Amino acid sequence: MANGKIGVTTENIFPVIKKFLYSDHEIFLRELVSNAIDATQKLKTLSAFGDFKGELGDMRVKVTVDKEAGTLTVSDHGIGMDAEDIDKYINQIAFSGAEEFLNKYKDTANSIIGHFGLGFYSAFMVSKKVEIRSLSYKEGAKAVQWTCDGSPEYQMEEIEKAERGTDVILYIDDDSKEFLEQSRIDALLRKYCRFLPVPVVSGKEQEWKDGKYVDTDKDKVINATEPLWTKKPAELTDKDYLEFYHELMPMAEDPMFWIHLNVDYPFTLTGVLYFPKIESNLDVRKDRIQLYSNQVYVTDQVEGVVPEFMTLMQGVIDSPDIPLNVSRSYLQADRQVKQISGYISKKVAEKLEQMFTDDRQAYEKKWDDIAVFIDYGMLTDEKFFEWAKKFFLLKDTEGRYYTLEEYRTLVEPTQTDKDGNVIYLYATDATEQYSYIKAAEEKGYNVLLMNGQLDNHVLSMLESKLEKTRFVRVDSDTPERLIVKTDRKDAGLTPVQTDVMTTLFSSQLPQVEKAQFVVAFESLGENDAPATVTQSEYMRRMKEMAAMQPGASFYASLPDSYQLVVNTDQPAVKKIVDLATSSLQDRVAPLRAEIETLNKEIEADRKDDSKKDAVAEKEKKVADVRKQEEDLVKDYAATQPQVRQVIDLALLRANLLKGEVLTAFIKRSISLLD
Ligand code: ADP
Repeated sequence: MANGKIGVTTENIFPVIKKFLYSDHEIFLRELVSNAIDATQKLKTLSAFGDFKGELGDMRVKVTVDKEAGTLTVSDHGIGMDAEDIDKYINQIAFSGAEEFLNKYKDTANSIIGHFGLGFYSAFMVSKKVEIRSLSYKEGAKAVQWTCDGSPEYQMEEIEKAERGTDVILYIDDDSKEFLEQSRIDALLRKYCRFLPVPVVSGKEQEWKDGKYVDTDKDKVINATEPLWTKKPAELTDKDYLEFYHELMPMAEDPMFWIHLNVDYPFTLTGVLYFPKIESNLDVRKDRIQLYSNQVYVTDQVEGVVPEFMTLMQGVIDSPDIPLNVSRSYLQADRQVKQISGYISKKVAEKLEQMFTDDRQAYEKKWDDIAVFIDYGMLTDEKFFEWAKKFFLLKDTEGRYYTLEEYRTLVEPTQTDKDGNVIYLYATDATEQYSYIKAAEEKGYNVLLMNGQLDNHVLSMLESKLEKTRFVRVDSDTPERLIVKTDRKDAGLTPVQTDVMTTLFSSQLPQVEKAQFVVAFESLGENDAPATVTQSEYMRRMKEMAAMQPGASFYASLPDSYQLVVNTDQPAVKKIVDLATSSLQDRVAPLRAEIETLNKEIEADRKDDSKKDAVAEKEKKVADVRKQEEDLVKDYAATQPQVRQVIDLALLRANLLKGEVLTAFIKRSISLLD
């Protein structure tokens, strides 16, 4: 029997372990089972190389709960340890400079784990005493027992042990009794050990007998030792991938497709990432990718470890190069982890590019569903944007798909404006904006359909990344002015005519809920529509952006502002203008003359301070006369159903004609048929 002190330089490592690691106590089981698996694998390797010539026998790792004795035992038939090994690996923990480190980091226990990996010693988080009973594989080895009660002192003695390998026996602490429940152990093993490479057994299989479940004498195997990601893609069928997916995500629908990662340089990384079908809202959950290290579960909190956009995907990533025993904040700061993350991004990009080049037609079919992943990636990851440029697609309203380069080539000749900007026209709703789309197409333009969940971000991003490119929604101006190729043509109205016509049309605009209109006149050619409702791209985007800010309900409640652009070249409009001019001229002219005289007098009176009152008087008179003119025009307008008709047709095209106003329009249309 030998007594000794554990080689930690500080006396208080155990209180530290207990106190600081409180929230993560359960990981002790992962640590002990991992050690047992390692010991098993090592012996298998020795055997394969002929360095161990004995029988391997049953190599399963066993976890046994003994509630009465208050113990939990992890047993393996691996390489085992002799007294010398225990001294070297267990007693002299590799805590070089631990004291200094502990002092420095005593508030951040996680970084201690991250730094050292407590491994075996995590057993003390839940135990008042720990025993190791081990028989080494070495010829002539003597079995030993090591005992430690959590103080830095231990006992070591020789024992009788027939079977090769190690039992680690935990005498569970009173405040950790939960770990003496088979159901709790089952759940933990399922969480951490489900895909370990060596069979792990715990408890017994059960069967249904006489109206209840009873234990059989068959050991219950916890894990699948060869999970899908460890196999070669060539050996796997779609069915295998789908089955594995449902094992990970029991309730989920089938994924659209998957990517099997298999990297061995510059680091080792395997895994399978599934692309689920994302229906409407982007529900970004951060626990859909599980991280493994050599098949040992580490975490499902992968934020900062995998690229941001991959949090939309599901699956597993396994890399021994991701440190096992670390907190998330530690992982995120780790340079290696950052490189791994960048590399995963690249692999996903390569796979998507390959899908695109191998079978473009099939890729296009998937595009609508995968766009959101690619959009998200391009928006959040510079590098991914660069890769994705090759396989990102734009879709037009006819359902044709283009790469960025193809689209540029298509529209550059016809859709470049007078300042050399290439205008990408788009619609967000092919039905609602139908007539605008058709009008643009008649001009020989192509219209994109940008109705994806992230599209308004995507188009801003493309504007900033692509040279001399602007996105303009088809209804943001008249077809003629969507792409400004020449300077504006004069509407051909005199100033008085413009005033009168503005009042005429404004007075006839119906009340449309949450909409505000201004009237403008343009000369757009005989064949263009008599009037068009447009919404400025700039204003609309401002409102959309504002609506995404917190406290957005205020912006959402603001009315939308529209323009009613009346085409003075159109024959029906011409008629309205001519008729109004001839009918109103005689009555408007004297009013205008009066205003002119008054204005001249006001100007003169202003020079004389004593005439302040007179100026005010005359200004009021001007306002009165203006009001008279306005009333005159309004009364006249009310007798001109054609004006309402022109306006309503424009509203109809913009999907703004609804309810009562729509009924009135239909009635009027019928009466105009007479
Ligand atoms: P780590 O596993 O990270 O090296 P541990 O503290 O868990 O750290 O274990 C220290 C060492 O003790 C292991 O590297 C191994 O050599 C030895 N060891 C632990 N458990 C076993 C076991 N079940 N069988 C054989 N050796 C073991």
